[in-house]
Amino acid sequence: MAKQIKTCKACKVKFYGNQSRSYCSERCKNDHSIYTRREKICLVCGKTFKASSAAKYCSQKCKYEMSRRSHSIKKREKEKQEELEKRRLEMRRNGLSYAQMQIAETKAMYAKVEVRK
Ligand SMILES: [Zn+2]
Ligand SMILES: [Zn+2]
Repeated sequence: MAKQIKTCKACKVKFYGNQSRSYCSERCKNDHSIYTRREKICLVCGKTFKASSAAKYCSQKCKYEMSRRSHSIKKREKEKQEELEKRRLEMRRNGLSYAQMQIAETKAMYAKVEVRK
Protein backbone atom coordinates (compact mmCIF):
# COMPACT_ATOMS: atom_id res chain seq x y z
CA MET A 1 0.00 0.00 0.00
CA ALA A 2 1.19 3.51 -0.79
CA LYS A 3 2.46 5.44 2.20
CA GLN A 4 2.26 9.20 2.50
CA ILE A 5 2.59 12.09 4.91
CA LYS A 6 -0.61 12.45 6.84
CA THR A 7 -1.89 14.73 9.58
CA CYS A 8 -3.34 13.05 12.62
CA LYS A 9 -6.99 14.00 13.05
CA ALA A 10 -6.67 14.08 16.81
CA CYS A 11 -3.32 15.64 17.73
CA LYS A 12 -2.54 17.27 14.33
CA VAL A 13 0.91 15.71 14.30
CA LYS A 14 2.27 14.76 10.89
CA PHE A 15 3.05 11.13 10.42
CA TYR A 16 4.04 8.80 7.66
CA GLY A 17 1.46 6.13 7.09
CA ASN A 18 -0.98 4.29 4.91
CA GLN A 19 -3.57 6.25 3.00
CA SER A 20 -6.38 4.73 5.02
CA ARG A 21 -4.93 5.86 8.35
CA SER A 22 -6.31 9.02 9.93
CA TYR A 23 -4.51 8.90 13.26
CA CYS A 24 -0.87 8.68 14.21
CA SER A 25 -1.55 6.06 16.86
CA GLU A 26 -4.19 3.78 18.38
CA ARG A 27 -4.30 6.10 21.34
CA CYS A 28 -5.24 9.09 19.20
CA LYS A 29 -7.81 7.02 17.39
CA ASN A 30 -9.47 6.04 20.66
CA ASP A 31 -9.27 9.53 22.16
CA HIS A 32 -10.69 11.18 19.11
CA SER A 33 -13.52 8.74 18.63
CA ILE A 34 -14.75 9.66 22.11
CA TYR A 35 -15.26 13.24 20.93
CA THR A 36 -16.98 12.24 17.74
CA ARG A 37 -19.36 9.95 19.57
CA ARG A 38 -22.91 11.16 19.94
CA GLU A 39 -24.46 12.45 23.08
CA LYS A 40 -26.91 9.96 24.53
CA ILE A 41 -29.23 9.86 27.50
CA CYS A 42 -28.87 6.99 29.93
CA LEU A 43 -32.09 4.96 30.14
CA VAL A 44 -31.54 4.31 33.81
CA CYS A 45 -30.34 7.53 35.47
CA GLY A 46 -31.16 10.06 32.71
CA LYS A 47 -27.62 11.41 32.62
CA THR A 48 -26.19 12.50 29.27
CA PHE A 49 -23.08 10.72 28.13
CA LYS A 50 -21.05 10.25 24.99
CA ALA A 51 -20.95 6.83 23.44
CA SER A 52 -21.34 4.87 20.28
CA SER A 53 -24.85 4.59 18.86
CA ALA A 54 -25.36 1.11 20.31
CA ALA A 55 -24.85 2.14 23.94
CA LYS A 56 -27.91 2.78 26.08
CA TYR A 57 -26.38 3.29 29.50
CA CYS A 58 -23.79 5.69 30.86
CA SER A 59 -21.97 3.06 32.88
CA GLN A 60 -21.65 -0.62 33.69
CA LYS A 61 -23.50 0.10 36.91
CA CYS A 62 -26.54 1.42 35.03
CA LYS A 63 -26.41 -1.47 32.61
CA TYR A 64 -26.47 -3.85 35.53
CA GLU A 65 -29.28 -1.88 37.19
CA MET A 66 -31.39 -2.18 34.04
CA SER A 67 -30.86 -5.91 33.71
CA ARG A 68 -31.83 -6.28 37.37
CA ARG A 69 -35.00 -4.23 36.80
CA SER A 70 -36.13 -6.06 33.69
CA HIS A 71 -35.48 -9.31 35.51
CA SER A 72 -37.79 -8.32 38.38
CA ILE A 73 -40.48 -7.14 35.94
CA LYS A 74 -40.35 -10.48 34.18
CA LYS A 75 -40.54 -12.25 37.51
CA ARG A 76 -43.59 -10.24 38.54
CA GLU A 77 -45.32 -10.98 35.23
CA LYS A 78 -44.59 -14.65 35.63
CA GLU A 79 -46.07 -14.61 39.12
CA LYS A 80 -49.20 -12.87 37.83
CA GLN A 81 -49.52 -15.47 35.11
CA GLU A 82 -49.12 -18.29 37.59
CA GLU A 83 -51.73 -16.75 39.87
CA LEU A 84 -54.20 -16.54 36.97
CA GLU A 85 -53.44 -20.10 35.98
CA LYS A 86 -54.06 -21.26 39.54
CA ARG A 87 -57.44 -19.52 39.63
CA ARG A 88 -58.44 -21.06 36.34
CA LEU A 89 -57.51 -24.50 37.55
CA GLU A 90 -59.52 -23.94 40.69
CA MET A 91 -62.57 -22.86 38.72
CA ARG A 92 -62.26 -25.82 36.40
CA ARG A 93 -62.16 -28.06 39.43
CA ASN A 94 -65.36 -26.40 40.64
CA GLY A 95 -66.98 -27.29 37.33
CA LEU A 96 -67.07 -23.81 35.80
CA SER A 97 -66.73 -23.38 32.05
CA TYR A 98 -64.37 -20.86 30.50
CA ALA A 99 -67.28 -18.47 29.81
CA GLN A 100 -68.56 -18.69 33.37
CA MET A 101 -65.06 -18.17 34.57
CA GLN A 102 -64.70 -15.00 32.53
CA ILE A 103 -68.00 -13.69 33.87
CA ALA A 104 -66.78 -14.40 37.38
CA GLU A 105 -63.51 -12.60 36.64
CA THR A 106 -65.34 -9.60 35.21
CA LYS A 107 -67.63 -9.48 38.23
CA ALA A 108 -64.65 -9.63 40.54
CA MET A 109 -63.07 -6.75 38.62
CA TYR A 110 -66.22 -4.60 38.87
CA ALA A 111 -66.63 -5.44 42.51
CA LYS A 112 -63.27 -3.83 43.12
CA VAL A 113 -64.11 -0.53 41.42
CA GLU A 114 -67.65 -0.30 42.83
CA VAL A 115 -68.07 2.63 45.16
CA ARG A 116 -69.47 1.56 48.46
CA LYS A 117 -71.60 3.90 50.49
ZN1 LIG B 1 -2.13 11.73 16.94
ZN1 LIG C 1 -26.72 5.97 33.95
